Amino acid sequence: MAMIFDSHAHYDDGAFDADRAELLASLPTQGVGAVINAATDPVSAERCLRMAATYPHVYAAVGIHPEAVGRATDDWLARIARLAREQKAVAIGEIGLDYHYDDAAPREVQQQWFRRQLALAGEMNLPVIVHDRDAHEDVLALLREYRPRGVVHCFSGSVEMMREVVSLGMYIGLGGATTFKNAKRPAAVAAAVPADRLLLETDAPYMAPEPCRGHRCDSTLVRHTAARIAELRGVSTEELLRQTYANAERLFLQKA
Ligand SMILES: [Zn+2]
Repeated sequence: MAMIFDSHAHYDDGAFDADRAELLASLPTQGVGAVINAATDPVSAERCLRMAATYPHVYAAVGIHPEAVGRATDDWLARIARLAREQKAVAIGEIGLDYHYDDAAPREVQQQWFRRQLALAGEMNLPVIVHDRDAHEDVLALLREYRPRGVVHCFSGSVEMMREVVSLGMYIGLGGATTFKNAKRPAAVAAAVPADRLLLETDAPYMAPEPCRGHRCDSTLVRHTAARIAELRGVSTEELLRQTYANAERLFLQKA
């Protein structure tokens, strides 16, 4: 049975407080070979690195999420830079732009932190994990400018945008949203992404795929997402899991 590489999860979330240790320890026996835990701020990054140090199959992305930049102080960048040097820090993330909420940090503030962290990733030669919610044009503009290696996670853009992201050398992360009824656009993207640029993810504890939608998500549920995407692409689930595992290894675990 091919193993799952969950390229995006948040096991530092309070939703896992009751059973985090047992769950993380059990993942390899449940078919999950590797997980990238994406941080949201420096404290979350420290927790992600601690989990990564404890479990051989867990890796950390360290970064400041656009929803956290409103409370960021200037020293946060240096803290992230220091944490990014740790052995199991494999990416800067998650970083990006989120224009969905009215009470979010102003767009200029979000863009400034996104720029700082894109520059940091370039200096450290690390890939980025990009969050893009309702901010496609501005995210694309900054990706064109900084040309990072990395992934646009929980990709919600059009097939046309996907093609541009891929042409910039980046990967497309797809998760539970691909399985939702009415998910026409994610389904079209899932069918069209080049096989060597597709990553699977959960965004656990959020975005549980059908038939588990609405419940707490964990990395084992990637199997449902994989089955749906494999069906859309006309390949076997095993083949899709093998390909996406190799893609995530190439992006995150091999030295560029
Ligand atoms: Zn996330």
